[in-house]
This record gives sequence, structure tokens and C-alpha cells, in this order.
Amino acid sequence: MKHPVTLYAMPWYHGKISRMEAEQLLSSRKDGLYLVRDSKVYVGDYTLCVCFSNKVEHYHISYSNNQLSIDNEVFFKNLEELVQHYTNDADGLVSSLKIPVTKQGGKFGTVSMHDFRHGGWLISLHDLELGVLIGEGNFGDVYEGVYNDQKVAAKQLKDKERGEQAFLLEAAVMTSLNHHNVVQILGITEGTIILVTEFMEKGNLLEYLQTRGRSAITASDQIHFASDVCAAMEYLNNKGLIHRDLAARNILVNSKGTAKVSDFGLAQFCGLSLTSRQFPVKWTAPEALRDNTFNTKTDMWSFGILLWEIYSFGRVPYPRIHQTDVIKHIEGGYRMEAPEGCPPEIYSIMTDAWKLKPADRPTFSQVLSELNSMRSVLV
Ligand code: ATP
Repeated sequence: MKHPVTLYAMPWYHGKISRMEAEQLLSSRKDGLYLVRDSKVYVGDYTLCVCFSNKVEHYHISYSNNQLSIDNEVFFKNLEELVQHYTNDADGLVSSLKIPVTKQGGKFGTVSMHDFRHGGWLISLHDLELGVLIGEGNFGDVYEGVYNDQKVAAKQLKDKERGEQAFLLEAAVMTSLNHHNVVQILGITEGTIILVTEFMEKGNLLEYLQTRGRSAITASDQIHFASDVCAAMEYLNNKGLIHRDLAARNILVNSKGTAKVSDFGLAQFCGLSLTSRQFPVKWTAPEALRDNTFNTKTDMWSFGILLWEIYSFGRVPYPRIHQTDVIKHIEGGYRMEAPEGCPPEIYSIMTDAWKLKPADRPTFSQVLSELNSMRSVLV
């Protein structure tokens, strides 16, 4: 059974720190002060460091047959269970666990491979067959692949030094998502870090719109894409997740023509900023550009731009305006015109999404029910 890699899990787990660094972090030596780190000597195992009588005791936690143990008498499924057990009772340790030393950055720290292993998301490199290169992103190259007899997409991290945390955070966000219109993560490999997801045969929506164009894409296809994305956004919003990078280039299409939201590199759980990467200006709401605050209403603005992309068959928004001037025009009241042939009901959703006051913009649920009723007439 897989379970989501939660970004708040295990605040006392410090990953790859040395014995000396651990002892520094425990410098107050208060009885029961503790942390967990990776074992240097036994790779893949852990060490529990506990203070008592002005000393630090380092206990080896062995990991074998999917179980953790300190004394080979009591066994645990994961580190959380182990820490819980020794919090309740010292059970042979110098002291019970009383005060955790939490990772820097407070309750939200970093994600490590161990989190994926314990969540059941680790895939062995041997079980993954890599095929041809199908795309390139900021953090990784995307290959076609086969895993468990299933065709998959395999995104390999390019620059381990620079991109590892952002890459793992994106993967961690994806482990908590399970929806028909969200690209499904299947797992992640260790060593050579590869994110494995379901394969989306028709690639990204932007290229799909541009290459097929008016002659091949029907009104029914357009409304399907729009309502698929809107359903995903309603789901994300209910989970408290803000996407922040909603655009046709980040939507993928499978062989059945189902559109799914991908690319959670900029996504954040409410109030939790994951990266300070540059914003895609032409897709971002004016208030978010000004004061860097994002919420479901800023995602709604971007959804309006994405609708415009769908109905203009993949044109660049604000075609004649340079991106540095966009905000000035918008605040002066300018809005893009309806793309040629765009139904008035759809254009009215766009203009509602582009209301200057966020509170005046509709919710994803409202837009979804409108799109679904338009969809049912067209099918
Ligand atoms: P990032 O900014 O997060 O690095 P990106 O948005 O530039 O990424 P990627 O997610 O790395 O894009 O994907 C790059 C391209 O690879 C996509 O535009 C798409 O064409 C292809 N691709 C990505 N994931 C899949 C998939 N699951 N199935 C099929 N093609 C995919």
C-alpha cells in the first residue's frame, strides 16, 4: 500500500548529517532531547541520537525486510512508529524521547529519498526500461519508458546539485494526488533520480493545439479539454493546493484525448512557498505579480488565460504586448478579445476569470458546472 509523502512528516529527521553535526544540534544536552539521522556506517539504516546525563547516545536503527528495529526485539513499519514507541516508553534506551530537535525551517523542511521509500514510492532502476527522449524541462529530460509492462514517462533529474530538492518536492506533491485529470506519479528511483509517471501519448496541450489546429480540433474537443482541466483544478483547490503555473504547456493529453494537469514544480500548499522561480507573467494575476500572493483566485485568472489558449489554438497570450507591459495594460482595463469562433459563454468565463478584484472571479466549482452543461450539449 502506498501512502502520500507528506511535507510535514518527521520534523526530527535530519537525513545525511554527521555524528558531530548531530551532537552540535543536541548541544543543550537536555534529558530526552533527540533527533534521527542517516547512518554513515550502515548505508540505508538510521541512527537515533538521544541525550541523557549530559551525554549523547547514538543508537543504530537497522532496516531489513521492510522493518526497522533498534534491539531486534521490537519492530516498526516506519520511523514515525519507532519514534512514537520510544516517546511513550524508554524501553531500554537511556531515556524516553521527550524533545525533538526539528529541522531548520520549522515544520516544513526538506524531502529525502527515505520519505519516498517509506511511502512505498521507490522504484528499482532495474525494473525501469528507458526508451527515446520525448521532452526537455527545466529540471529534467523526459524519456519514454516501460515499468511493470506499462508504458510510462521517465523524467530524469539533470543537475543533482542544483535541482534535487525542487525535483523531490514536486514528486512529493504528486504522491498526495489521485484524480482522473491529474497526471499520476507511479514512483521514483534512487541514485539516478528518475520520476516515473503515467504516459501521456499526445504530449503537451500547447503543441497539440498548435500542430492540429482548427482543421482537426473540434468544439467538442475544446470543451473537453477545458472541463478536464477545470475538474482537476476543483480537486486541487479542495485539497488546498495552488498550482501557480497553469498554462497549456503544463497540460498533457493521453491517447483517449483526456487532458490532465501536470508540472507541480511551482505548486504550493496554501501558505507554503516552495520555490522563488520566476513567474510566467502573461498567465499570472496582476495582484500576484505585485505582491507575490497566490490563492485559488489567482489560479482562476490563469485558467482564463488557458481557456484563451485552447480557443486560439495555442497562440501566445497578448500577442502584441511585451510581457513587461502586460500588468500596466490590465490595470488600465485592457482585456484580450475573444479568439475567432470562440462561443460567447466561454468568453464570458474568461472575462469573469480576469476580474481585477479576486473576490469577483468565479470558483472552479461554478465554472465546472457551466462547462459540464456545455459539454453535455455538444457530445
Ligand atoms: P519543469 O519546468 O518542471 O522542469 P516542464 O514544464 O518544462 O518541466 P516537463 O514536465 O519536464 O516540462 O516535460 C517536458 C515535456 O516532456 C512536456 O512538455 C511533454 O511534451 C513531455 N512529457 C512530460 N511528461 C510527460 C508524460 N507523462 N507523458 C508524455 N509526455 C510527457
